[in-house]
Amino acid sequence: MVHGHSFGSFVHQFFCLQSMSIFENNLNFAKQLDSKDPLALYRQQFLIPTHNGSDVLYFTGNSLGLQPKGALDALKQECDDWAKWGVEGHFNSKNPWYSYHEMFAEGASKLVGALTTEVVMMNQLTVNLHLLLTTFYRPQGKRKKILFETKPFPSDQYAFESHATIHNLTSEEVLVEMQPRAGELTLRTEDIVKKIEELGEELALVCFGAVNYFTGQFFDLKTITEAAHKQGAYAGFDLAHTAGNIPLELHKWNVDFACWCTYKYLNSGPGSVAGAFINQKHTKNTELPRLAGWWGNKKETRFKMLPNFDPMETVEAWQLSNSPVFNMAIHKVTLDMFTEAGMDNLRKKSEHLTAYLEYILSEVEKNSGQVLQVITPKNKEERGAQLSVIVEGRDKNLIKHLAENGVFVDWREPNVIRLAPVPLYNTFEDIYQLGQILTQVFASK
Ligand SMILES: *Cc1c(COP(=O)(O)O)cnc(C)c1O
Repeated sequence: MVHGHSFGSFVHQFFCLQSMSIFENNLNFAKQLDSKDPLALYRQQFLIPTHNGSDVLYFTGNSLGLQPKGALDALKQECDDWAKWGVEGHFNSKNPWYSYHEMFAEGASKLVGALTTEVVMMNQLTVNLHLLLTTFYRPQGKRKKILFETKPFPSDQYAFESHATIHNLTSEEVLVEMQPRAGELTLRTEDIVKKIEELGEELALVCFGAVNYFTGQFFDLKTITEAAHKQGAYAGFDLAHTAGNIPLELHKWNVDFACWCTYKYLNSGPGSVAGAFINQKHTKNTELPRLAGWWGNKKETRFKMLPNFDPMETVEAWQLSNSPVFNMAIHKVTLDMFTEAGMDNLRKKSEHLTAYLEYILSEVEKNSGQVLQVITPKNKEERGAQLSVIVEGRDKNLIKHLAENGVFVDWREPNVIRLAPVPLYNTFEDIYQLGQILTQVFASK
């Protein structure tokens, strides 16, 4: 496998050259891009579902990433160690379960741009969001509002509502959904900042999906965090559609907290373990309220089984339970791949895949007459690996016809398809072929 600095600069050169070229809608052109792609070999490390004997065109890696071939061996290792050692496996297994979560600190810190003491793998996404809200949503007096993006993922909104209830507040008193300008579907950074200023002393927390699951818009986390802090509010982000998609600098941007799942771009399997980030300035503050569990207690005293909680001074203090080793075993396989490939390299390829998809969609529109309105921002700084497209006059049957042709895309009511070309395993040829099938389906149905 390829490594290190020379690899990075090779990727850079390759994609800089590509960005000057003009895209073409033909198979040879797509194959040529693939043949020069320095990350192309990663595809071979995944199991790709098949349809009539060929690989499907998989554009739903933003919903559930594909299975890495190493997953089964990783699970078997833990099962074998369990069989061999029983309870002694906590210390004697190849990857001791007692400190299992510590194996992720390095990789997760690179993934989201954090210190190793600021990231931990634990629980699942919505659980982590609740744990973080317990600490960081502390309404006081008139400071009680939570600002979030338009059309958030419902689970996040339910979480905000339940914390309002816990504090004896109503949703109306707490929830503020940032609305786009009339006739627009995505948000402008300047408007978000203005809204934060308007809310001023009433604002307790800004909590956005860093990439909105519906529109694919990536927000300016640094600017939003700065604006929130200026008003004395916290800023936290749900990275479900961002981790493994776009390089982040959570620590540098001074973000207070974040959480993410690992089954979307991170390919760790359905319901796999999730991540949490808490800025170092907070992890050392043992006064912060939190829901405590024994795995957050200092290691030295954990097994003294004392009645008083003595929290660690890292984000690990927010852990409740011992590690879900079987989920984590698969996550280790995929996180190592991200560390090796490098988020910056993946991002470079991703920008080109998404740009090629945008071009191919314009070709489909031209050749089939079907109106396709891309609602994801055109500016590459404001998007990752996903394009959300309004397909006027179509219904859910479209997805059925595409599936019959071996194409996996995702449908959101009333008429939006979401397409995610994932740099670890999607190819330029996938995108070209998608264009052919879309044109055919739109022309015939
Ligand atoms: C996928 C997703 C979820 C799902 O939550 P789980 O707890 O993993 O089931 C929640 N929030 C956002 C923003 C998501 O994209």
